[in-house]
Amino acid sequence: MKPRPPVVTILGHVDHGKTTLLDYIRKSSLAEKEIGGITQRIGAYEIDTKIKGYPNSKITFIDTPGHEAFAKLRSRGANIADIALLLIDGKDGIMTQSIESIYHIKNAKIPYIVVINKIDLPEAQPEKIKNELIKYDVLVEEKGGKIPCVLVSAKTGQGVADLLETILLLASEKNLTFDEKVKPEVYLIETKKEKRGVVVSAIIKNGHLKVGDVFFEGEKSKKIRAMFNDLGKPIKEVYPSTPFTFLGYESLPEVGTLLSFNPQSSPKKEEKSSKKTIDKTLLLKPQEEKKLFLILKADSFGSLEAIENALAKIENCEVVLKSVGDITRSDIFLAKTVKGIVIGFAVSVPADVVNLAKQEKVIIKNYQIIYELLEELKEVSKILKEKEQKEKSIKGEAKILATFLIEGEKVYGVSVTKGKINLGDPMEVYRNEKLIGKTKLVSLKIRAKRVLEVKKGEEAGMIFSPPLDITIGDMVKSIL
Ligand code: GDP
Repeated sequence: MKPRPPVVTILGHVDHGKTTLLDYIRKSSLAEKEIGGITQRIGAYEIDTKIKGYPNSKITFIDTPGHEAFAKLRSRGANIADIALLLIDGKDGIMTQSIESIYHIKNAKIPYIVVINKIDLPEAQPEKIKNELIKYDVLVEEKGGKIPCVLVSAKTGQGVADLLETILLLASEKNLTFDEKVKPEVYLIETKKEKRGVVVSAIIKNGHLKVGDVFFEGEKSKKIRAMFNDLGKPIKEVYPSTPFTFLGYESLPEVGTLLSFNPQSSPKKEEKSSKKTIDKTLLLKPQEEKKLFLILKADSFGSLEAIENALAKIENCEVVLKSVGDITRSDIFLAKTVKGIVIGFAVSVPADVVNLAKQEKVIIKNYQIIYELLEELKEVSKILKEKEQKEKSIKGEAKILATFLIEGEKVYGVSVTKGKINLGDPMEVYRNEKLIGKTKLVSLKIRAKRVLEVKKGEEAGMIFSPPLDITIGDMVKSIL
């Protein structure tokens, strides 16, 4: 195992200085890089801080900042960044996208650093920001928390060296390593079509990759035809966490994809089957959470306040973010991250946002009348509460895997997925989360031996009376 540099991403509100900071860091390290080399924007760059005393002095920055890009990469399941920077304008303070960023970072469960920018401006108020952050459960070190906070000016460079060192320190605590001998773990971060073909930018996080290596797109094998570093120079191989571009694809792959080194059955099929879960009801998402997370958008501050006050009385509903204005792509990504839904009041939803919501399976509900909005949410809250109580009264759960007819009697092969089930228990049968009937467990066997109890992880044969029309895939639940 060898140490590898951290991969860092910057999140924060628009105009708070993400690009300026990335540019400053890139330029100040460029002088050290090869003379005459023109860095190419490949979606990420690597610098050598030359700071000593850490396992590694290099850092890789993802240079498409912002939570939309972050969420997009993450929505494909890729955890590319090791560390996030939450950048806040020292003058303007915490804004909507700062709050969104906090949610995204916390959901990604990666360490982060609060970076207060524009400290060169006399109006900057870092102390005020640190205090305000407490509201969002972001406790910086000076406030008794664990989150490092660094004050910088992306314009003058003040504090940037300190920031780089803080990144290295955090990275050393994370003990980031890689193993040269394992299969490479390569994430695709940007793609574009050029004359020379499809150029894919990527970051490698484990193993190592060489020109000529074979990878797979679905079942088709492909070859890494050429690789280039962030100066556009051809390279023969890469080691973590270096960003690079390569040729080898014929059509544009999806950003966020993990490069596969095994043939995979067509991913399209999976997509189709998961489409079945798209449902227009509000209850779809919260089933797992038992809480309805809302992103609230309204036409004015007045209506926003009215809705919020009314919502405060509804149990099980939590407003993650509220703002005035139309529903945006960021709202969809945030809803996806927190497994919530987007509620609009008298706002519009642009067509591309509707499409994104469909694609990401996020529910948007838009209302024109506050009363209707509240009535519907009340109803949802009620159902969620019932569900929660029901859940508490469930002793055990099993999935029907097979059915047999033995001596004229229907026997079900089940796998116990939760708790325990006893012979004689009253049982409820569910299909697609819907109750289809009640019965009783009258025979229970494990490998043809009679038993009185089965527990989570065990497989058993069950007979129910009365015999309902139970099929494979149904769930049977033992009710207390
Ligand atoms: P982004 O949208 O977060 O990428 O923000 P930008 O990097 O585009 O910066 C927005 C504006 O803030 C630009 O006009 C920058 O010049 C300015 N800016 C960024 N950082 C600083 C800073 O540290 N000090 C001052 N005074 N201005 C800054």
